[in-house]
Amino acid sequence: MAKYIVLLGPPGAGKGTQAQIIAEKYQLVHVSSGDLFRENLKNQTELGKHAQTFMSRGELVPDDVTIAMVRERLARPDCRNGALLDGFPRTPAQASALAEMLKEFNGAVNVVPYICVPAEVLIERLSGRWTCRSNGHVFHEKFNPPAVAGICDLDGSELYQRDDDKAETVKNRIKVYQEQTSPLIDYYRKNGLLVEIDGTKPIEEVTKDMLTAIEDAK
Ligand code: ADP
Ligand code: ADP
Repeated sequence: MAKYIVLLGPPGAGKGTQAQIIAEKYQLVHVSSGDLFRENLKNQTELGKHAQTFMSRGELVPDDVTIAMVRERLARPDCRNGALLDGFPRTPAQASALAEMLKEFNGAVNVVPYICVPAEVLIERLSGRWTCRSNGHVFHEKFNPPAVAGICDLDGSELYQRDDDKAETVKNRIKVYQEQTSPLIDYYRKNGLLVEIDGTKPIEEVTKDMLTAIEDAK
């Protein structure tokens, strides 16, 4: 059966950072809905242009569009054995759509590591985040600096600061998370899949706790 890991947590909690490390370790495909939207935007597709209006305001892209995009990605052959989902689902409707589509793909959500970080830490993390243009690798100017400023350690491409990482938009993204995404904490807790991870620890320690959670779920 195909195995899917869902990373849950507020914007800036460290989902992308941990997903990169874990995907490599388990040879899992990293599916980030935010990266998919940004790729569409870079290629100026209709989907990208539509998503941009919501992303620039720090709002969620409507469920139907988001679900269709993720479904198309998970249906590709490289996800046959499962995937590491980062940033999806973000609403109860997305969570039930995911459960339904995974039945079709002969799989299920295996474990949901929930990375907990208080709001005041998130703002500091996002305001110092630098993202790689080619593959979405993330760094932090203070907490995880690249070897050479402005250049991605992993693929040599340019690092940039996302428009929606400015303080004003971040505040709205955190509010949107609290209103629309945080109900998923209870949803996954009730079906026994949630594992709480302290996301305020250094990156390597968070990784260790994540790996324990994933191993225990096997
Ligand atoms: P973060 O780094 O905060 O986790 P993402 O890169 O995951 O941010 O998402 C950036 C933006 O893309 C979101 O603010 C939202 O506009 C859009 N987005 C990403 N995933 C989803 C989703 N599952 N549902 C709706 N909108 C999404
Ligand atoms: P998310 O995908 O949840 O939005 P990211 O993985 O992009 O979060 O991390 C947000 C920022 O915080 C990045 O600049 C990243 O380098 C940094 N970061 C991630 N995990 C930690 C951590 N445990 N301690 C300090 N900074 C971190």
